[in-house]
Amino acid sequence: MDDPRRRIPRTDALLAEPRFVKAGHDLGHELVKSVIVTAQSRARAGEISPEEVAEEALAALPATAGSLRPVLNATGVVVHTNLGRAPLSSAARDAVLAASGNTDVEFDLATGQRARRGRGALAALAEKVPDAGGVHVVNNNAAALLLCALALAPGREIVISRGELVEIGDGFRIPELLASTGAVLREVGTTNRTTSRDYAEAIGADTGFVLKVHPSNFRVTGFTAEASVAELARLDVPVVADIGSGLLHPHSSLPEEPDATSMLRAGADLVVASGDKLLGGPQAGLVLGDRSLVEHLRRHPAARGLRVDKLTLAALEATLRGPAPPVRAALDAEYAGVRARAEHLAGSLAARGVDATTVDSSAAIGGGGAPGAVLESASVSLPSGYAERLRAADPPVVGRVEDGRCLLDLRTIDPGDDECLREVVSRCTS
Ligand SMILES: *Cc1c(COP(=O)(O)O)cnc(C)c1O
Repeated sequence: MDDPRRRIPRTDALLAEPRFVKAGHDLGHELVKSVIVTAQSRARAGEISPEEVAEEALAALPATAGSLRPVLNATGVVVHTNLGRAPLSSAARDAVLAASGNTDVEFDLATGQRARRGRGALAALAEKVPDAGGVHVVNNNAAALLLCALALAPGREIVISRGELVEIGDGFRIPELLASTGAVLREVGTTNRTTSRDYAEAIGADTGFVLKVHPSNFRVTGFTAEASVAELARLDVPVVADIGSGLLHPHSSLPEEPDATSMLRAGADLVVASGDKLLGGPQAGLVLGDRSLVEHLRRHPAARGLRVDKLTLAALEATLRGPAPPVRAALDAEYAGVRARAEHLAGSLAARGVDATTVDSSAAIGGGGAPGAVLESASVSLPSGYAERLRAADPPVVGRVEDGRCLLDLRTIDPGDDECLREVVSRCTS
């Protein structure tokens, strides 16, 4: 008679409530319905009361219709591939939003005619790297390498040092990527030592180009030798330099990290790089260098299969023209400032009874480049049990567990997010 399950509100009735009507508008009817159904079955199972169904469903509505969530990167790894590499600057986010509807990406509003796709981003790139006679943008650096192989070495040889046969990550290897185009890899030298003579002896009528790959995620030290781009430029074949990280100019605190301008000045015919590593922009592959080679790549049929969308072009242009992106801020922040933020945060948490202390820590650039570089940093140290609770929080916080403590490294946290971080840790404490 008095079965409480009979008081569970009906789906139709809930869907007609203004709050759910609005949610249906924002998130889609199906998604809202599935959230309601889940809350109803929890009430049926006795986990919540029938009166709590509506509130429960409202609380369970996701912020967006997509499943990707914003995360606070407290790992101390500046370019964290699993966390989406470079976070976009707010200028780049605004540009993405502005371009997300119909936009003049390939249209001249003055003449009403078709215009060069992504001309704003290309012009920004060309202005930043005046040593490049031509610039092109593709889906990522792997796509840039594919395009070089397809356009410059079809059925021919790519000469590469055995010390530079790099696995990028997730099982993907640059030599296999290149060989998948039908080009033949002509390996020269040894793991630790390769000289310009090794290259010279391998070069012949079958050579498409010489490829120099920056070992961006490992280091070979000890008895080593490599040929510089300047030496290779004297050989009579195109030299392509894969610099990985996307630095356009030398960076004073990363002296060993190659940059596009220096490589072009040293004589590289083409430089390829990622957009979402140290450049701090969206996922993209930058191709910079000799104007006619770039034009040849741009005109290759496969270029269409590797092209970037309007959102990428918008974000890239704003990254290049706008204020320094978060990756730069994380890289350039003074240790003292990072330490002061950690102390402030740990102090205010400790005052609320949290077992929080400040420790010095070592941040890293990440798989995105500079494998040996250590960035002096500071972290809030918490009991290790926090790691899992923080990942489950909203927004999720990803730290790292070291010596039985959960460290939240502040170098990779935007100072504007410190207060949010404090709140999340507090919530995970009660
Ligand atoms: C990261 C990297 C790549 C792959 O770049 P994606 O933009 O991820 O495709 C290729 N080469 C080097 C040297 C790299 O560091």
